[in-house]
Amino acid sequence: MAKKTDYYETLGISRSATDKEIKEAYRKLAKKYHPDKYHSAESQSEKAAAEEKFKEVNEAYGVLSDNKKRTAYDQFGHAGVDATGMGGAQSTHGFNFNDVFGDIGDVFGNIFGNRSGSQQSQRAQRGADLRYTLELDLESAIHGTTVQIRIPRLVTCKSCQGTGARKGTKPTFCKTCEGQGQVRIQQGFFTIQQTCPDCHGEGQIVTDPCPDCRGQGQIQETKTLSVKIPAGIDEGNRIRLSGEGEAGSRGASAGDLYVQIHLKPHPLFKREGNHLYCDVPINMTLASLGGNTQIPTLEGMVNLRIPAETQSGKILRLRGKGVPGRPGVNGDLLCRVIVETPINLSEAQKELLIALNKELQDDNHYPKARLWFENVRKFFRK
Ligand SMILES: [Zn+2]
Ligand SMILES: [Zn+2]
Repeated sequence: MAKKTDYYETLGISRSATDKEIKEAYRKLAKKYHPDKYHSAESQSEKAAAEEKFKEVNEAYGVLSDNKKRTAYDQFGHAGVDATGMGGAQSTHGFNFNDVFGDIGDVFGNIFGNRSGSQQSQRAQRGADLRYTLELDLESAIHGTTVQIRIPRLVTCKSCQGTGARKGTKPTFCKTCEGQGQVRIQQGFFTIQQTCPDCHGEGQIVTDPCPDCRGQGQIQETKTLSVKIPAGIDEGNRIRLSGEGEAGSRGASAGDLYVQIHLKPHPLFKREGNHLYCDVPINMTLASLGGNTQIPTLEGMVNLRIPAETQSGKILRLRGKGVPGRPGVNGDLLCRVIVETPINLSEAQKELLIALNKELQDDNHYPKARLWFENVRKFFRK
């Protein structure tokens, strides 16, 4: 890298220059060396020199107009601003042109706005990425599957191979902008670059448009894709299908298709990572006396042992009965026991319950209720 000139020298100011002096010096020099003033210069070397000078001026101002960078530069020289990546010609984006140029700021705004804008509208452009939300049931997500999806998208027109010109013809060179896609317009002192109004930045004009795509070079098509879903995929995971997005314009590469996984709610299981949760309703006799009940797992029904005196809401864990993970590392199945109150009782059944309840009046049958009543009493004694 060539040795850099001192930023203060570049702007022709003293090291003690005020912000205002820096701004004024920059304004004068930027006008003097602005590339649009030199684009028609006679000699190439004169043009190149001005461009180089313009870059230097911008760089110097980018640093000196920023208090933090200026302090670093004063202390450590170029190393102070380069090391942190703050220097360099790209620093022209680091400050606002309107700040410096005030009323004529608009002119600069236009130039720079159009430049970045023109890059987007010009010829080859990569196709857009597409997203497809795929609803999967739990079993398919866990075991993996292959699904067919139909996606509407823009593809390159086969008749014209994306040129937009009728088969056998070619788009013609745009004379207005000489194929550049950009035209320069004189506006007072400045020359402004704008997207060519005739070819809209394409640099070429389709005089005889392709009838299949009406000159667009792309057509809407619904394509059926076969997507392989790997086992163990989960809610929110994405599968990228490279090049299956929309076609690029003028032969540019296509975008990608992202298949976003959304799991349908399951009537029995809730999945969290590799664990599965399920509710198991049991009656109060089983809850009280303990015993066995059958519960579903991914591999069929299994026995679940209910310990005696199980309370509603207790979670019983079945190790390894959840989602298969790496070999030997399966998730668990967590069963939440719900003790269900019997309904639709006959008179005889009601009488039995009343009789049972009389037998259970003693406090030690209901430890939770006992504790709760104690807390209630304490609460009101305060
Ligand atoms: Zn076509
Ligand atoms: Zn043009």
